[in-house]
Formats: sequence, structure tokens, C-alpha cells
Amino acid sequence: MGSIIEFDNVCFRYESDEENQILPLAVDNVSLCIEKGSFVAILGHNGSGKSTLAKLTNAINIPESGTVTVKGMNTSDEGFTDEIRKTVGMVFQNPDNQIVATIVEDDVAFGPENLGVAPSEIRRRVDEALKAVNMYDFRNSEPHKLSGGQKQRVAIAGVIAMQTECIVLDEPTAMLDPNGRKEVLSTVRKLNEELGITIIFVTHFMDEAVTADRVIVMDSGKVIIDGTPREVFSQADKLIDVGLDIPQATQLAYALNAEGIDIATDILDENECAEAIYKLLRSK
Ligand code: ADP
Ligand code: MG
Repeated sequence: MGSIIEFDNVCFRYESDEENQILPLAVDNVSLCIEKGSFVAILGHNGSGKSTLAKLTNAINIPESGTVTVKGMNTSDEGFTDEIRKTVGMVFQNPDNQIVATIVEDDVAFGPENLGVAPSEIRRRVDEALKAVNMYDFRNSEPHKLSGGQKQRVAIAGVIAMQTECIVLDEPTAMLDPNGRKEVLSTVRKLNEELGITIIFVTHFMDEAVTADRVIVMDSGKVIIDGTPREVFSQADKLIDVGLDIPQATQLAYALNAEGIDIATDILDENECAEAIYKLLRSK
């Protein structure tokens, strides 16, 4: 399908507030391609560089060295910044910081309005975007009266209304209750599957990463593991080493395996674990 975003030996560091002090690299020589239409999860403990990496994808951060390109456009070239931001939209952790209007539909219209889209076209895009995140019935509501999950879905609708081809979500579920988390994840999955929108989903929840096509694990600004969820979560020792959990079902299989029981360790969820245990019991 081809890639939509490419990182080529990218380094980034923040400037220190103190003179003569040079901070370590926050992103350290990262090379990767994000395939068009894919759903990629980015995992890593606090401070591992996930948000810095996310902000490199749409020219909020510009590399110190190396290049980031979005559909061939170099993010270091300011002439491309508008076009890049139209292509890659961002959703952040705190839903309250992302709402700018007092009525849901006005909030969703804000992005396309700023792009200079014609009013009739805005109307159409807002309705479509709200339907896509299942918030159309709330189009006349006041955002502050919505739940966290609903607010995040409105924020996602705002990005969709700009017709971005890729959405980068930086821990969008971190502040939500379990219901809100499920709403946001299933909404994002649907946008990926039905509209083909490329998704980069930063999370520290293992169960959310399990459903991705690909999982990228970061530590100290570097990509340390990159593969399918099964490939990644079967490397339990390495994940634990960098301060990450593994899914509970994987942990159970791992512990049983360590006790000498012949069970696979590349198990991702409760169903697979149940099936493996059932098979084991049947074979006795
Ligand atoms: P994550 O999102 O994985 O928690 P970040 O990308 O926010 O990680 O941070 C990566 C590193 O950069 C950390 O060491 C963090 O302390 C540092 N950092 C993040 N933002 C800033 C900033 N504005 N100024 C200086 N250092 C920062
Ligand atoms: Mg972060």
C-alpha cells in the first residue's frame, strides 16, 4: 500500500532552560515507515519519547537531524507545514483542553473553518464526522456536559472534518473510565477499518495495543521492539525490563510455561489462553 509517514534517522532534543546545558536526545535515531491504512500502537513507559515522536509526525516538532516526510513532504520545510497538518491530525490526552466552542457542532466545524472550507461543505463534513464517531445526536449539546469518552469522540470528529488521512492519538484514553476507553478505541478502529484512515495510537494500556496491526515499543527515545502484537508480547522479559506490563493472559501463559507446562507464550487474550488450557487438559 505504500507508506504515508517516513522517519529516517531522526533525532530530536528539547532546549534546556539553563544556559550551557544540553539535554539528552528525546528521540534518538529513529527510522520507521508507517504504512498507509495501518493501525499502529506506540508503547513505552513515561518519558520514553512517545509524545515527542508523535509531535514529529506533523511538524509540531522538527528533527535536529534526520528527516520526517509525510507523503513525501519534508516536515523541516515550512512551505509544507499547512499541507502536512491537513494530512496528519492529532488528538491529545486531555479532552477538556481540545474543545474550543460551546456547542458540539461548532467545535467540529472549527478546523475546516480555519482551512477556509465553504459553509455548505463544512455542514456536510460536520454531520458526516459526527456520525462517524457516533455523536450526531449530541450535535447541539454543550461539550462540558459530555462524558470524557464523548468529548474525545468530538475531538476525533474535529480531526475527521478536516479530512486528514492519518490521525495520531497521544494517550487519548489515559484520562477516561473503562467505558470511555472502549468507546474511543472502537471508534478509532472503525475509522481505520471503514474509512481507511491511518491510525497511530499512543497508549500505555496493553489491551489497547493488542488490537493493533503493529506495535512499536520505545525506551529512552529509541525504538526497541517493532512487530505484530504477537511478536511483541511474546518478548515478555524485554518488555518487563523497560518497565512495561504484558497482557494478563500472556502473563499467565508465561508463568505456566516457566513452571514447565507445555503452553505457548504468544497468547494475547483471555480467549486464546482459555483455548490453550483447554487443549492442554484434553491432551492429558
Ligand atoms: P512520553 O510521551 O513517552 O512520556 P516524552 O516524549 O514526553 O515521553 O518525553 C521524552 C523525554 O523528553 C523525557 O525525558 C522528558 O522529560 C523530555 N521532555 C518532554 N517534554 C519536554 C520539554 N518541553 N522540555 C524538556 N524536556 C522535555
Ligand atoms: Mg506522552
